Amino acid sequence: MSLTLHGIGVSKGIAIGKVHIIKHEPVEITEYCLPNYALEEEIARFENAIAMARQQLQHIRDKVPKDATVDIAVFIDAHLLMLEDSLLTRVPIDLMNEHQCNAEWALKMQCDSIVQIFDQMDDPYLSSRKNDIEQVVVRIQRILRGSPDTPESFETSSLVNTIILADDLSPADTALMQHHGVLAFATEYGGTTSHTAILARSLGIPAVVGLHRASPYIKSNDTVIVDGLQGVILVNPDIRSLRYYRMRQYEAKRYRAALTKIKNSPTITRDGMPITLQVNIEFPEDMETVERVGGKEIGLYRTEFLFMNRHSPPDEEEHFEVYSRVIRALKGDSVTIRTVDLGADKQVVDSHYHKSSVTNPALGLRAIRLCLKQPQLFKPQLRAILRASALGQVRMMIPMVCGLHEIIQVRLMLDEIRTELLHQSIKFDPQMPYGVMVEVPAIALCTDLIASHVDFLSLGTNDLIQYVLAIDRGDAAVNYLYDPLHPAVLRLIKMSIDAAKKAEKPISMCGEMASDTRYIRLLMGLGLRSFSVNPEAFLEIKQIINNSSIEGLAPLSNKILNTAYQAEISKILETINA
Ligand code: PEP
Ligand code: MG
Repeated sequence: MSLTLHGIGVSKGIAIGKVHIIKHEPVEITEYCLPNYALEEEIARFENAIAMARQQLQHIRDKVPKDATVDIAVFIDAHLLMLEDSLLTRVPIDLMNEHQCNAEWALKMQCDSIVQIFDQMDDPYLSSRKNDIEQVVVRIQRILRGSPDTPESFETSSLVNTIILADDLSPADTALMQHHGVLAFATEYGGTTSHTAILARSLGIPAVVGLHRASPYIKSNDTVIVDGLQGVILVNPDIRSLRYYRMRQYEAKRYRAALTKIKNSPTITRDGMPITLQVNIEFPEDMETVERVGGKEIGLYRTEFLFMNRHSPPDEEEHFEVYSRVIRALKGDSVTIRTVDLGADKQVVDSHYHKSSVTNPALGLRAIRLCLKQPQLFKPQLRAILRASALGQVRMMIPMVCGLHEIIQVRLMLDEIRTELLHQSIKFDPQMPYGVMVEVPAIALCTDLIASHVDFLSLGTNDLIQYVLAIDRGDAAVNYLYDPLHPAVLRLIKMSIDAAKKAEKPISMCGEMASDTRYIRLLMGLGLRSFSVNPEAFLEIKQIINNSSIEGLAPLSNKILNTAYQAEISKILETINA
């Protein structure tokens, strides 16, 4: 029987395929006693599970693409080594014999005691190794239980042409899955502007999040249809539904093909206002999509994905190499490299990068705060960006700035590095522009005070909205409050645009609001003339701009700033988009 489940559509498009389930939930372990005669068999079961875990990891290891952007191989090797260690392979067997208990319980006892020792260590690097132990143990426990994959254990080859159903996917999981032929994502948790949703949009993969308690109703290999626009998934659809959605898929394909006609045309309104339209990327590989849609400049390069799914941060050479690839692909056009924004939902394997507030990580040690606390993490990136500036048009952008003191600290670091590079006769652009994200309300409110200290600004609405409205952007439970049209949000945007203009500093928007076809005219009406959007939205946004006239947009847009009722706001927006 077919079943329809409703969630939040975060990346439009229709996908039809077989489900691949990924679980993060902890494996529940129960203890049971075994009679003497059953122990041998239980030990054999345990040894088989270890052998299978080894096989799984080896298999994944062999499949890691040579040019993988993240150091997955090192990550897997560390796990393989643990499977050779008697602490995990021999001691649980001794415990089984001693306590006459099942394999799962013996492994749990051993894992608990190892973790306890790690917890007592002062050395943050060593204590972070406990994550690896836990991951390896979870893998063995799942094999013992015959459970579905964890994100860490999936074989990328088995993901081709599947629809991923997960309780949740971190940006790191999504990064690991990228470019492996996944048709769509569906998760039980998550919000519209969570980084996972942004990645899905950027990869052009349909995605639905917030499908609460969907997993009991869906089995691996069920056929599902994902409608990323409506936020609906159909499980085991009937033939009529399949026909209908295949037709919609075909129409969408034709629409996208038609859009490519404007690929090489300029971005300019009907009444002659040129608009700057740039692209957001997360990986150097995204440059292929950028080229496909005719994008020229990169308005936001999120570099944090370079840090994910690996044990040690990238060194200066690796940063430099990756940035050089992007610059080469740009053939003279500019790239805005954003310094690393780790923290909150963007986590790395090793928590020693940042020890921050666990109750409210979005307000904790994130982005520039973390970088300034950990110069050993930040400096290699700054050096690499400066070196890369000798190869093309590079701008540097700082995320999560909340005050001038942070800008000054970064500037001092840059000055120091420039002097170092000069002494080492290493080339860089001494005029490399640097700017800030306007994503903390404090900076939006004080753009007039900040603007003269930077070369450019870019509005990060994903975070700005989260902080203005006090809602976690990744939390599906409060997603209904995530409202880009809230007058408080629009007033801040307007205030920041006006202040930047007055200070004669360029201001753009790289938050997802700019990639949303519903808001682009409104934003032009508020005075914005520069946008950076995800590659999949690029042509659609360009088409809207090219079909719009600036004239008449401002009075309507400004009207929303003074409108409290949502129904009225929707009406005004309808008129703007009519
Ligand atoms: C934003 O906050 O709008 C933004 C572009 O940054 P990120 O989504 O990476 O936090
Ligand atoms: Mg942000």
